[in-house]
Amino acid sequence: MPMAADIFDRARAASRDLEGVTRPAWSSEDQAAADILLGAAQEHGLTTRMDAIGNTYARLAGRDETAPGILSGSHLDSVARGGNFDGLAGAVAAVTALAAIRRAGMVPGCNLTAMGTRCEESVWFGIAYVGARLAVGNMDRAEFDALVRLDSGRSIADHMTDQGLAVDDIWRADGPEIKPANTKAFLELHIEQGPLLMEQDAPLGIATAVRGNLRYGDGVCYGAYQHSAATPRRLRQDTVLAVTELLQRLEALWHEIEDGVDPSAVFTIGKLFTDPANHALTKVPGECHFSLNFGSTEQRSQDRFAAAIAAMTEEIGRRRRVRFVLGDPVGSSPTPLDPGLRAGLLASAQSLAIPATEFATVGHDASIFARAGIPAAVLLVRNDDGSHNPHEKMDLGDFEQGVQVLAATMLDLAAE
Ligand SMILES: [Zn+2]
Repeated sequence: MPMAADIFDRARAASRDLEGVTRPAWSSEDQAAADILLGAAQEHGLTTRMDAIGNTYARLAGRDETAPGILSGSHLDSVARGGNFDGLAGAVAAVTALAAIRRAGMVPGCNLTAMGTRCEESVWFGIAYVGARLAVGNMDRAEFDALVRLDSGRSIADHMTDQGLAVDDIWRADGPEIKPANTKAFLELHIEQGPLLMEQDAPLGIATAVRGNLRYGDGVCYGAYQHSAATPRRLRQDTVLAVTELLQRLEALWHEIEDGVDPSAVFTIGKLFTDPANHALTKVPGECHFSLNFGSTEQRSQDRFAAAIAAMTEEIGRRRRVRFVLGDPVGSSPTPLDPGLRAGLLASAQSLAIPATEFATVGHDASIFARAGIPAAVLLVRNDDGSHNPHEKMDLGDFEQGVQVLAATMLDLAAE
């Protein structure tokens, strides 16, 4: 697949950072990726443009150019020292699929458009999916104006203006760039960021849903620092034993949910620590910090987890004479993906005899299109060594199979 390999190589060269790539949102690096992508699309006869947000579009005109079209793509930015394929694979896959359809002389029923979005990664401005949210009209000017890039301290408008974008044109009188009235479906190819396809020895995965999450980033349990030998159990205010009891009970609840309604539920304690300035072998720990991160495809599981956290911290706090302060939770709701599109992707894979398996996925731009009322689906490509690190890797043979399934599904949808 020389076209795709060439785009990947050139984008990597334009954003190389030690062993990985760094493409900050609205930087010369993600702009280079956009230019390389659009240039390749033009060479292959596609009609290209960039909107006021900096999202890229490469279009293959359909027989009925006024009918709602099919959109496919993913993001151009990366995390710092991340991998070249996280995001870019989906943007390149869509352009490659459209070029192949055109080369084969096929004219789709409606317009097919390959999209590259900006600023999907939350590391740059503290929130994810900015380019996609702006494209579907899901961010007002006040929220936009408050965004500041975490590393530079400069506003989002400044960074976008640096790239020659006309920020004031984003909120147009005729509504957002992408809406159900002009877009029939959004398909996103993305590398898998977990180990399931490697484990199941399948090149492709079809996402059932995008997990939501419930997160407490800075939980603290307050008790009292007491003499470890002089204080009997009934008078202790031990925060470590209180927190570990909470975590074990939440883990049991996670297993129950995982064995029951939601096999894709995940639970992570990313942080757990006592205060090094005050903790000691001979002190009852008077303060313990921790985080809670529960992910699920079922809103009722998230609600159940939230209720359990509230009840358990209250009961454990009272019994163990400690106080839990969790702060306000952050997170997102689970997003179901379109059953018809999922079935279409599965049918395309089957007719091409390409093994594909179904499971839930993490947050992607597709969830923003789904929430905007546009049927959306995610096609995952096998990728060893996880993601958000320089070692992520995808076999170009697997990628090519993904492009075949994507192209076949887009054509089928355009014929409906
Ligand atoms: Zn990504």
